Amino acid sequence: MRRPLIAGNWKMNGDRESLVELDGIAAAAKACEGVDVVIIPPFTLIERAVARQPALAIGGQDCHGAPRGAHTGCISAAMLAEAGARLVIVGHSERRAAQHETDAEVKAKAEAAIAAGLVAIVCIGETEAERDAGEAAARVEAQLRGSLPVAGPESLVVAYEPVWAIGTGRTPTPADISRIHSLIRTILGEFLGAERAAAIRILYGGSVTAVNADEILAVADVDGALVGGASLTAASFVPIIMAAGA
Ligand code: PEP
Repeated sequence: MRRPLIAGNWKMNGDRESLVELDGIAAAAKACEGVDVVIIPPFTLIERAVARQPALAIGGQDCHGAPRGAHTGCISAAMLAEAGARLVIVGHSERRAAQHETDAEVKAKAEAAIAAGLVAIVCIGETEAERDAGEAAARVEAQLRGSLPVAGPESLVVAYEPVWAIGTGRTPTPADISRIHSLIRTILGEFLGAERAAAIRILYGGSVTAVNADEILAVADVDGALVGGASLTAASFVPIIMAAGA
């Protein structure tokens, strides 16, 4: 009942020439009818990406919690929507770490995104130190409780991304992923009710590649993947889309 979602986060990578990669990605998305696919390029490429592949969902990597104002360097959710974005990532660990974003700010961003008609992908995940201290579940629970907007499956996606797995080539075991995703769904149920919790997609993110996608996507309560490095080319991203559609 939950359609898999494969989201590619290009981070601060890519230029106009990179948009050629969207052709192969859009073709795979079309071929895998049961899978939702989104590419999340830098802000400057959103409009061009939409123009190049109108059927492919395009997203933004962040938005401000306010609708407008004196926030130099920031972008509002409505601006993203106007550019053609359909989703936005909020609370990515790179922003939580480098921009010191708090759970309350992430929640405000998610609420602003939803108010602008976007789907919010709310990211949570423990650091390696927290994991080593046996605090992964507690950290994820605290972040979720602090960051979660009141919303349903049509406008909210949760991405579990252990910080230590992002860009490192390391991943948790399927059992660890299953444990955390199950915890997330339980908390979603407490917050939003059983019906919404059952329908909200929970993505796994952190070093997903063509090699490990089958195993990770087969884990209970994993409803797709948020992919960084492997989303930059069609050659590396399409097999992940295919794995979700298998
Ligand atoms: C990410 O940054 O969201 C991510 C999952 O990156 P990577 O796939 O490169 O680990």
